[in-house]
Amino acid sequence: MGGINVEGLTSTPFGTVARLRRPWPALSYAVTGVMPELPEVETIRRGLAPALEGASFTKVELRRRDLRFPFPRSFAKRLEGAEVTALGRRAKYLVGELDSGDVLVIHLGMTGRFVVEESTDGPKRRFEPGRFYDDTERIAAHDHVVFHLSTGKRVIYNDARRFGFMTLVKRDELDAHPLFHGLGIEPIGNEFGAEALVGLFAGKMRPLKSALLDQRLIAGLGNIYVSEALFRAGLSPRRAANTLAGKGALARARREALAEAIRRVLAEAIEKGGSTLRDYAKADGERGAFQHEFRAYGREGEACLRAGCRGTIARLVQSGRSTFFCRICQK
Ligand SMILES: [Zn+2]
Repeated sequence: MGGINVEGLTSTPFGTVARLRRPWPALSYAVTGVMPELPEVETIRRGLAPALEGASFTKVELRRRDLRFPFPRSFAKRLEGAEVTALGRRAKYLVGELDSGDVLVIHLGMTGRFVVEESTDGPKRRFEPGRFYDDTERIAAHDHVVFHLSTGKRVIYNDARRFGFMTLVKRDELDAHPLFHGLGIEPIGNEFGAEALVGLFAGKMRPLKSALLDQRLIAGLGNIYVSEALFRAGLSPRRAANTLAGKGALARARREALAEAIRRVLAEAIEKGGSTLRDYAKADGERGAFQHEFRAYGREGEACLRAGCRGTIARLVQSGRSTFFCRICQK
């Protein structure tokens, strides 16, 4: 995803904006640890959908002019009166379809989170769908957008670091939009599977890890879950991607193992996110129940968890991102 800042000019995914907000963050991963990946965004989508779908926006309060990028012109006005017909997800974007013909696109950046307030009358019940990335308390000063709904609920967007953004796109322009144009297949969608990997990896000599992170091939698969899936599939992140695309039995076994590992890793993460949702009545201000249970990611120097393997998890930097893997059992 684009977004580079040069002096006085910001290139956004929606064109060039002549306003500098702040330089590209250098601190990111080390400071906040886990950033939302596909399972986190999907969990948030599932938590928000019951509040948003079928409701219309009675008022949209913008407490700032921008997040990572400025809000589009007339953002609040275009939303007010519109009904959310469906809340979907594409890669790591929440995609709210509106009966006005617009689509509300939201990216959570690193610290974007939502709070749903059940009622504006009487004692408020709040819940926060999906809370993974950060232990910090939500600070009201970082409540940047408040969506007032026809149901009396309020959906509040809070983002301490403001690397998230929102925009509106005409529904019939969505596929051609710079954010979505050229995005690869969804790893939890029906198109994805071992046979899809043949077409994606054929002729690709690059390392498997970098092919899996390529959003033009598979959309929304991030660094953490790629490391986890490769570990489970017993495949080295350095192996050439095309070694999974061949006609032979070995290539087929590798791609079947990988496709299965990707599906499982994502499904388990979403399921664990779901356990947070079930607890949401008491979730406001409390730490979510979700704990990442990684077998490889972040375990550098620790013993490999594969039964019978005496290896140690190593860390390797590929395309600027850390890969965690076992040199013994990942071939
Ligand atoms: Zn091992």
